[in-house]
Amino acid sequence: MKSIQLGDLELTPLLDGYFRLDGGSMFGVVPKPLWERRAPADERNRISLAMRPLLVRGPSTRSARAGQGTLLIDAGAGNKMDAKSVDIYALDRRRNIVHSLADIGLGLGHIEIALASHLHFDHAGGFTTRTESGDIRPTFPNARYVVRAAEWEDATHPHERNRASYQQDDFVPLGPAGVLDLVDGDGDIMPGVRVQWTGGHARSHQVIVIESGGRTAVFTADMMPTTAHIDEPWIMGYDLYPMETLAFKKTFVRDAIEREYLIFFEHDPKIAAGYIRMKDGRKYVEPVIVDS
Ligand SMILES: [Zn+2]
Repeated sequence: MKSIQLGDLELTPLLDGYFRLDGGSMFGVVPKPLWERRAPADERNRISLAMRPLLVRGPSTRSARAGQGTLLIDAGAGNKMDAKSVDIYALDRRRNIVHSLADIGLGLGHIEIALASHLHFDHAGGFTTRTESGDIRPTFPNARYVVRAAEWEDATHPHERNRASYQQDDFVPLGPAGVLDLVDGDGDIMPGVRVQWTGGHARSHQVIVIESGGRTAVFTADMMPTTAHIDEPWIMGYDLYPMETLAFKKTFVRDAIEREYLIFFEHDPKIAAGYIRMKDGRKYVEPVIVDS
């Protein structure tokens, strides 16, 4: 996968494979005749999605000074999903994060910070790995794992509506392993990288804003999971607080167009990154990084 240089920072979308979710659930109130033009459904009404964690490398990586260099945002679904769920979600990890890191000469041990947009299984599943002996361990042996404190609270106290999304093995083992950093509120995670609360999809869902050299990139996570979600009312049925998503998107999309944010789409099956543009009153995405 191609990298983008944004000021001092090098941004590389990785791939932890593909999966499928119900098309109706992915587009909420939008009728199928409209959404299936953007995202065709299979015989089980599922649409194809990717999992694209984003790697951010700072200048210290190249000067070999460790400490603030290599940050990973989300980590895909990982290897712990049982056979029934693999079938339901059509999980296909034949190409996964281990391969995408190896493609750029990195291993799991190079990740210094693993940052969560939120802790749903398709984002945080890869934070832990089941070993051959059946133990569950942090996937990145040298990383601190950074999670919003209120998201940790919700993920470890699930209710009937979100229980299927929060798989406890994805994140609970990080606590006893001593690698967890819970952070409150919005702020910098490393120079040029900050988190911003959106709510909407989950009570403490956040996007990641990356600013360097006068340019801005945004990892929109599940606030805007694919290029088919750039229109404001195209909001997932999974969202717990859809009106929060709507309020955030209305401001965000306007700013993204005006200020030319480079958007990283975590779940788009083809377009990993692009600019939202407006032409003849219609929004579209100008692709910058496309899956080959
Ligand atoms: Zn997701």
